[in-house]
Amino acid sequence: MKGASRARPLSLSPTALKLYVRCAYAYALDKIVKVPGYRRIIAAHLHTGRAVHTVLEQLVRQEQIRPEDAVSSLERTFSWGAYTDRQTAEAAFQTARARLDAWVGTPYGWGAGEQLAVEKMLRTRPRPLGSASIGSVVLIGKPDLVRVDPEGTLEVVDHKSGKPGDGVEALKRDFQAAIYRILAEERWPDYSAYRVSFSYLATGTVIGLTYTREEVEDWWQALLTVAERIARARLAVENDIALEEAFVPAPGEQCAACTFRRVCAFRAS
Ligand code: SF4
Repeated sequence: MKGASRARPLSLSPTALKLYVRCAYAYALDKIVKVPGYRRIIAAHLHTGRAVHTVLEQLVRQEQIRPEDAVSSLERTFSWGAYTDRQTAEAAFQTARARLDAWVGTPYGWGAGEQLAVEKMLRTRPRPLGSASIGSVVLIGKPDLVRVDPEGTLEVVDHKSGKPGDGVEALKRDFQAAIYRILAEERWPDYSAYRVSFSYLATGTVIGLTYTREEVEDWWQALLTVAERIARARLAVENDIALEEAFVPAPGEQCAACTFRRVCAFRAS
């Protein structure tokens, strides 16, 4: 196990980074221990959001969008067994259907412009971290859609099942938008303008974010700093430091909704 991290770059997605910031120990249970799925607790709303995204992925590729296609696709995709009882599942199904109906009515991202990628995993080149022993980092992300909009801007579109909770500045401070922005330019470098758009299906709101060159550079520095901290902790575990010493648990309110609460000895009661 010792030194094993030297050969492989650290892959960091927006979800992994958010998890690490919320609780480093939860990140370690996910990425280092790799707790198996049957020992995790997946919140019901995540199943609902996943079903909506799976249907949208199919619809956005079609040349015509019809409401009946959305319903039949949802019926095929929906995980009825993931909910505690039939009534909860039925309510979740109706929520998912309402979100899809809203998108079919105004299908943001579909139609005009040119599609470049749908649910495609994007990666940056490896960037070296502080020293050879902790290796490098690769940012990864799978946006719902990347397209060139009718004005020629390269746009990353991410659909959200819920309502917008935060303003533009708060969204710009979020890992997801910044990483999508970085990934888009690294994969398609020759565009004069880039935008990351969050499309909120519950309200039909679209919030578009743009970044200056300095903001992108600042984000890179911030991400490299966090990545280095994670890579050092990973190396410490490989050198037999206890998991909870390298990735310190952060028990608190978030434990109630934590995927790992069934297996975590440090959870807040
Ligand atoms: S239950 Fe709490 S302390 Fe344990 S991993 Fe989850 S968030 Fe961290």
